[in-house]
Amino acid sequence: METNQYCPEGNREQIQTRLLILGGGPAGFSAAIYAARAELTPILLTGTALGGQAATTDMIENYPGFPEGINGLELGTLFQQQAERFGAQVVYDSITSVDFSEIPFRLCTYDKEYLAESVVISTGARPNHLNVPGETELTGKGVSYCGTCDGWFFRGKHVVVVGGGDSALEEALFLTRYASKVTVVHRRDSLRAGKLLQKRAFGNPKIEFIWNTVLTEIVGAGEVKQVALKNLETCDERLFDTDGVFIFIGHTPNVGIFGGQLALDENGYIQIDRYMRTSIPGVFAGGEVADHRYRQVITSSGMGAAAAIEAIKFLEEKETEKGETEP
Ligand code: NAP
Repeated sequence: METNQYCPEGNREQIQTRLLILGGGPAGFSAAIYAARAELTPILLTGTALGGQAATTDMIENYPGFPEGINGLELGTLFQQQAERFGAQVVYDSITSVDFSEIPFRLCTYDKEYLAESVVISTGARPNHLNVPGETELTGKGVSYCGTCDGWFFRGKHVVVVGGGDSALEEALFLTRYASKVTVVHRRDSLRAGKLLQKRAFGNPKIEFIWNTVLTEIVGAGEVKQVALKNLETCDERLFDTDGVFIFIGHTPNVGIFGGQLALDENGYIQIDRYMRTSIPGVFAGGEVADHRYRQVITSSGMGAAAAIEAIKFLEEKETEKGETEP
């Protein structure tokens, strides 16, 4: 939601905090652990997707400390427990508008107003849509953006996966647990995904590939029945039977609620410097909302921790300045 209008209507309970953290993914919880250990008693607003995108990952195999891998939801729960153990307050709520024009920053939810001396933004990113006919109507009725969430519904069925990156292959491999066949449709003739995932996917007898091809429509009344495919080399078009469509074609950062108050980079992500500082002093950002390059649980966690460390320094410096100016 794009908005510049601050807290449009109603009286709200006011809550003051030294640090408000937006987002309950790896970056947000890591920021909360660091800030809580610095005794800032941070408040973390989870937003609607507790655990972030990591929570929708079946098995995270590259987060150090878990040599056998760990389920994404389970890891998110451990992050939360660790943050709460040190005194972070986790609130299941979402910001609807912000005013970053002065300190305290003012951030509204539906029924509360937070007055924050500093903010860490870790609102993450959301999956891109194909924007083809039938996609919106059939979302939840065969169209999905999360194999871990919806794969179970496709036991013994045939599904199409769109995309050629790590996410597409990882999810295609996951879906083979349930589906009888997984067809990966990719717009080019080579994959962007890492070599290990490619090797696993090429070696999986349930996975087949359709190259140089895009989806132009998702067809079905009440449930997915077919997809319209167009070969980009020959321009041939055909209908292809399938029971489900899983779309993994990249992400868009969740920056809409900041309503143009923060500088963004050329890709639309929040612009930060190496100290996680945004264009507004006192507002820091970490994780996928500010990173389109690495997008890993460990890099997001690291950015969240760094953002909290910088917020702690910012608040300390303000205290020192105040002490020096006060008689
Ligand atoms: P990605 O790397 O940006 O890949 C997106 C894929 O979707 C690309 O193959 C792209 O095609 C295709 N695509 C984009 N727009 C499309 C459209 N309109 N129609 C059809 N196809 C379209 O995104 P991702 O796979 O989500 O990965 C993002 C980042 O997260 C990467 O850095 C990745 O390494 C990381 N990641 C890592 C892991 C892991 O380490 N296990 C797991 C998931 C994600 P082209 O190739 O032609 O551009």
